[in-house]
Amino acid sequence: MNAIQDCLSLLQSPQSIFITTHHKPDGDAIGSVMGLAHYFIKKGHRVFPVSPSEVPDFLSWIPGLETVYNYEAEPKKVEQALDESSLIFCLDFNDLGRVRTMETLLASATQPKILIDHHLFPKPYFEYGVSDASKSSTCEMIYDFINTAGDNALIDETIGACLYTGVMTDTGSFRFPATKASVHRMIADLMDKELKHSPIHEEIYDNWTEGRMKFLGYILKEKMEIFPELHSGLITIAQKDIDDYNVQTGDTEGLVNYPTSIAGIRFATLIIERKDGIKMSFRSKGNFDVNTFAREHFNGGGHFNASGGQSSQSFTETILRFKKILSEIHP
Ligand code: 5GP
Ligand code: MN
Repeated sequence: MNAIQDCLSLLQSPQSIFITTHHKPDGDAIGSVMGLAHYFIKKGHRVFPVSPSEVPDFLSWIPGLETVYNYEAEPKKVEQALDESSLIFCLDFNDLGRVRTMETLLASATQPKILIDHHLFPKPYFEYGVSDASKSSTCEMIYDFINTAGDNALIDETIGACLYTGVMTDTGSFRFPATKASVHRMIADLMDKELKHSPIHEEIYDNWTEGRMKFLGYILKEKMEIFPELHSGLITIAQKDIDDYNVQTGDTEGLVNYPTSIAGIRFATLIIERKDGIKMSFRSKGNFDVNTFAREHFNGGGHFNASGGQSSQSFTETILRFKKILSEIHP
């Protein structure tokens, strides 16, 4: 992979740029796509922001979100956008499998692919890019990219709001270890550029439905198991729970973190039974490596302290297998 600086020459004349991210996008995924899109528009490029699947409601306020194509809903439009594009930016993922149903389309594209991402072990699909697992978020890396291009002065309130969203959500509101001084310097710069941070917190964290809050109460009371001697917590959500509570995309966001707020718990797992299979999320505090754990046992990956995976077994079998592994590894 060539350095990200080397792709700047490709951007000297107006381009049509396909910008995409991972399936089930989160705040960092959509924040980075739209932050980069607004920057490219200011530079005179045409942009096609694309999400492989639906964008959750808590991000509906993001400026320009209505211009994002959802591949699952409008595959033909996305195929046409890709045909018309001269460059492809891949943000917040480093393995084409993470775009799920869009994988074949992306893999067959011949335009240069440019990676900006902070997950471990990038796959060798990208002509240009930057992969840095020490970065708090892809949004921080978009900020760095704009600065590298010499365009700090183009960052405005709109770009700032998009980028702030990803940094805030990926750092757990500036508390995880990846929140280095560079992150605080970036946010200070965004605030100098008219960023209004409080409304963004409210949009993302104070925008629950009553149903979502009741679902959280039910899950914490009925579906969370704590294993103090293993320093671990497990939350399991069956398809029936999702149906009974009419759970929407985004409603399970953040659930996996709850066990780690219990004293002595340093490893938390969420297992969800979804229509398209079993999805797992892993979080840790300190030096238990959940990236390796997800890779070795559940065909996944991510970061040292936050990762995800999947299972092709049934929900019940997955829970049993997980518990067996847990008792063997003693996190
Ligand atoms: P989450 O638990 O929020 O879905 O994901 C946590 C982190 O792990 C994210 O950075 C995400 O990109 C990564 N991740 C989640 N699921 C998978 C997966 O199935 N495979 C890989 N390689 N990474 C994943
Ligand atoms: Mn991210």
